[in-house]
Amino acid sequence: MKVMKFGGTSVGKPERMHQVAQLITKDSEPKIVVLSALSGTTNTLVSIGEALLKGDKDAANAIIEKLDIHYQQFINELLNDEVYRQKARNIISEHFEFLNIITRISFNEALNKDILAQGELMSTKLFSVSLEEKGIKHLLLPALDFMSIDANDEPQVNAIRARLMPILRAHEDTKLFITQGYICRNARGEVDNLKRGGSDYTASLIAAAANCSVCEIWTDIDGMHNNDPRVVNKTMPIEQLSFEEAAELAYFGAKILHPTCIWPAQQEKVPVKLLNTMQPEAAGTTIMQEAGSVGVKAIAAKDGIIAIKIKSSRMLLAYGFLRKIFEVFEKYRTPIDMITTSEVAVSVTIDNASFLKEIVKELEPFGTVEVDLDQTIVSIVGNDIAQTQDILSKLFESLKPVPVRMVSYGGSKHNVSLLIPSVYKQQTLQLLNTGLFGL
Ligand code: ADP
Ligand code: ASP
Ligand code: MG
Repeated sequence: MKVMKFGGTSVGKPERMHQVAQLITKDSEPKIVVLSALSGTTNTLVSIGEALLKGDKDAANAIIEKLDIHYQQFINELLNDEVYRQKARNIISEHFEFLNIITRISFNEALNKDILAQGELMSTKLFSVSLEEKGIKHLLLPALDFMSIDANDEPQVNAIRARLMPILRAHEDTKLFITQGYICRNARGEVDNLKRGGSDYTASLIAAAANCSVCEIWTDIDGMHNNDPRVVNKTMPIEQLSFEEAAELAYFGAKILHPTCIWPAQQEKVPVKLLNTMQPEAAGTTIMQEAGSVGVKAIAAKDGIIAIKIKSSRMLLAYGFLRKIFEVFEKYRTPIDMITTSEVAVSVTIDNASFLKEIVKELEPFGTVEVDLDQTIVSIVGNDIAQTQDILSKLFESLKPVPVRMVSYGGSKHNVSLLIPSVYKQQTLQLLNTGLFGL
């Protein structure tokens, strides 16, 4: 059994959906196919929720109407036979009826999650009708029957496995399952999701739960590149990454993978392959236990970072000081990404500003607190990079014009991280591309 996940751009056009149908029927290995929403749909659903939160029902209705037209056109292009077109129209109209009802009742966060779930529900159902028209036998597997998060909003492989395996066993003769990425149920049994980009997470969780041979992530690029292709001019695909390297790249901003999607596959040692739907013959990237080679492999950047510095002469030799600082962040469930210390100060970074005011207020008794907004973490990731000759000298040589705010080196063998003001991001990534990769 293998997992094949197709992202928004891979199903965003009718001709791409046909291509996906070809890719999943190429070999006879049983498959669980995970689909995202059609590209742009989740953003649109987010904007419906935002309009309703503001109480602007007219705006919400206008967005829904436009989206409906998009789906009607999509159906006409995807399907040839009027019988299947009508079937698809009937299915899609139920989802738009639901959206229209929601605009008339009082809005809340649980309803918002229901709105966000419509994208993956519609894409999988449309794909299923298309497979039916092509005569391809398959079973639509509702993700809401098995994908879940616990009371801390974390998915647990064992809980997912306990629900998924009996379903798969009940359909032993089925060779092709289609299911939704991103959506799940929370501990209260309500519809919820695995956060933006979460279909990758779904794929990895299913691959781990069902002990699959491989978890293939099909997208619009030929694998993990050495730098962010949206920011720098020349980048190249990486052949092989270890789970640790890939996890660091995903967490520190490589958008091709959801930030935490690697751990389930890593836990069950299921290799992950990043492949290009538009160029299926390209080698892509294989993520597995072994790193493949030593040295710097890639650079990623994560925006929206806040740096907090706590300066205190009393910190000098005071044991327990860091614990007290960390307790404040723990209290507000705000994870720290980077940390650097000196005798008189400690700097940390966070990416969640929800409780910034409260955190600063509680830190103030410990010393002077300084906050810098609009920072970016740039991570240089590789295998045993501490062993790489001249890594630090090359790095600082390349970054002479950039005011580096923090440096984190030695925390793991895979990562050197820098904190820079976000306005320097493009320049920094470009300079490192030349300095470290000669590109
Ligand atoms: P999908 O809709 O298939 O999930 P995403 O848009 O989430 O696709 O991820 C693919 C995109 O990630 C690529 O088009 C690329 O622009 C972006 N990306 C950012 N950093 C990297 C990187 N290091 N390597 C490859 N792609 C990257
Ligand atoms: N459709 C969701 C999103 O756009 C999940 C995903 O595509 O991975 O965030
Ligand atoms: Mg994605």
